[in-house]
This record gives sequence, structure tokens and C-alpha cells, in this order.
Amino acid sequence: VGFEPFAPAKAEALLAAARSGLAVAPGTQGLEEYRARGGHVALQAAQAGRLTPEAAVAIVERAGLRGLGGAGFPTARKWRLALAHPAPRHLVVNADEGEPGTFKDRFCLEAEPHRVLEGMLVAAHAIGAEACWIYLRDEYPDLRRVVEHALEELRGAGIAGPPVHLRRGAGAYICGEETALLESLEGRRGYPRHKPPFPGEHGLFGRPTVVHNVETLWWLPGILAAPEGADRYASAGRRGAKGERFFSVSGRVREPGVKRAPAGVTARELIEEFSGGMAEGHRFVGYLPGGASGGILPARLADMPLDVGALDAEGCFVGSGAVVVLSDRDDLAEVARNLLRFFREESCGQCTPCRVGTAKAVRLLDAPAWDRALLGELGEAMADGSICGLGQAAMNPVRSLLRFFPEEVP
Ligand code: SF4
Repeated sequence: VGFEPFAPAKAEALLAAARSGLAVAPGTQGLEEYRARGGHVALQAAQAGRLTPEAAVAIVERAGLRGLGGAGFPTARKWRLALAHPAPRHLVVNADEGEPGTFKDRFCLEAEPHRVLEGMLVAAHAIGAEACWIYLRDEYPDLRRVVEHALEELRGAGIAGPPVHLRRGAGAYICGEETALLESLEGRRGYPRHKPPFPGEHGLFGRPTVVHNVETLWWLPGILAAPEGADRYASAGRRGAKGERFFSVSGRVREPGVKRAPAGVTARELIEEFSGGMAEGHRFVGYLPGGASGGILPARLADMPLDVGALDAEGCFVGSGAVVVLSDRDDLAEVARNLLRFFREESCGQCTPCRVGTAKAVRLLDAPAWDRALLGELGEAMADGSICGLGQAAMNPVRSLLRFFPEEVP
């Protein structure tokens, strides 16, 4: 109970509320309703000692839950790494959703903030966190009011737990990268850190820290609330993938939006089965499987499972599940240029291959004819020499355009 997909009516109410600027969206589930619909079962079990940290780790491992912010790292392994290092530990919620085409975290928090907060408190219990930190994208001002209100409701109801700090980002895409986020939380410029050490060993204020994406936390209560939760979640996937996830589907489909779908679903299924097919007058030619940095795939490869690692051979990845559908009316070279301009703007500038490389790439792409050899060499240098994923993956759109759509390259 209480863990059903978003109803279209709720989506409509949320959009109307976002437009009207209401403090708390009418489609947002309050604490009372959340508990009436089965919420807080896992939290109560944790607080009563019936769900020990060891048991929580084992259940989440059986479910196969992975981080849904982009990297897809197994949640239980993340917890184990932090647990292997001495307390005090921190739990950080990455709500700095900024990947182009991604909007599912906003939806989770707006519709069911208490479910995300329960996931946060249960994760904090599992790793013995002494504090929780929510790093919220500042471009979501309405969402801040929703989260503040939900936290007040929790305090008002006397729900025990570690202190929860709500912090606002300041508009930098790079602060969605977990170590840049930690720097920002500590009050410094959001420069990604070199890894290792990983946050699980040496994170916020030098303490072992687990950083979770909003959606990852949204799934936790359902997995931990019932004995069969883990198996139910794990068996929901298709083509051998485990679990479900939310895909942000946009572009040339009839019904774009947040789609709850099995892990391992294909792009063609997402379009046909979940998004009402292609928009009127558009022919499917390709798609971005994972936002700005996941590459561009042709329609003939739309039957591959959208799962962690499944697109590696094509040099692409699913990341945070932002699927952008492209049609014969889109200029694919312009799509790649646009994405590279985005990376140039958002490069934090800390390392030369990315800072100079993204600017150079934009200049090369603005030329009347693309220098394929030089673009390839530049992409390699950036992938090899950049500190973080932004610089390492920035050339993915160009690389995949050259490989899969040579006819589109000027
Ligand atoms: Fe900053 Fe880019 Fe280097 Fe990442 S790769 S640290 S975004 S300059």
C-alpha cells in the first residue's frame, strides 16, 4: 500500500501548483496521508530495533538496488564501505538534479516527500549516520518549501532521528557530482575531488559519508517495509535487469513525462508502451539514453536494455535515466553542438583537459566542416586526462554522432 505509481491526476495537480507558486503543492502527499497509506513501516521497524543495520544492508543487497543518480553503484556496497570506517558518519541527499533531460527527482520529492525522507532516515540508520544533509537544487524554489514543510511535519510528529540540514545549491551543474557537492556543503567552491579516497572513506568534513540520489531513497521504504519487498523489487526488471526506476522521457513523443518502468526496458518500449508513441508527424531516428553525457544512439539500436553497463559496447550509458527522443525533424549535429556548449558553460575549470577541451570542441563544432581526426584526438585527451565525469564524458555526443550518424556530420 502507498507505493503505487504517480497517477496522471496527481501530475496535473503538481504542475498547476508549480505554476501558481503555492507553498505546498496540492498534489503533495502530507505526513498523515503517507502514514495512512503504509508509510513509516520500515522506519518504525528500524527505530524499534526489528530492522537492524545488518539486516537492512542484506535486504537492500538482495533487492539489487543501485544508485539512480547516474553512476549506478550498488547501494549495499556503498553502505558497507562507510560502515567499514569509524563513526561519526554522514548521510547526504543529492537533490541537485541538473542533468539535462532529468526531472524525476523533482517529481519524487514533490509528490511524496515523506517517502524520500523515510528512505533518508532508514539509510541513516543503516550506516549509523550522526547527521543528514539535503543539498537541494536552488532552481527548485517551490520544492524547497515542500521539503521544509515535510521536515516541519516530521518534527511536529516527534519522529526521532539524526538532525537534518537543508542546504541550497547555487546553480552549478558540477555540484551534482558527489565530491563537488561535498566541497560546496563544506562552504568551498564546488571543485570535484580526486578519487580515491571515496566519500565512503573520507567524505563530508573528512568523515565516512554516503551520498544518495533522491530517487534511490524513494525506493528504499518499499524494499524494506515488507519481508517480500526485496524480491518484489528485484523481480520487476526485464531482460535480467533488477528492479524498477523512473525514466524522464522527453523529446518527440506523444506523452513526455516521468515514467515508472522496469529496469532493462528498451527505448522502443519506453516510447511505444509508456509514452504514447512518437509525436504526430515525427519519425523516430535516435535517442539520448542518458541525458547530455550518455551519448546518442540510432533508432536501429532502440531494442537494447536501458540498464547499467548494457550500452558500454556502444560507448553510451543510461546514467540518471533521461531519455530524449529525436526525430527526422531534429538537426543532430546541432544537438551535439548544443550539448558541448552546455559542457563548456558548466565545466568548473579546475583541470585543463576539460576547461580548454570543451571550449576547443565548441570551436571545432562551429566550423563549416568538422575535423573528425582532431575531434577524436581531443575526445581521447579529455577522457584520459579529466578529473571527473564531466570532462571524461563531455565528448560522448560527438563521438557517437561520428560513429552512428556519419551522414549528419557536416
Ligand atoms: Fe572541473 Fe571539468 Fe575537471 Fe570535472 S573534468 S574537475 S568539471 S574541469
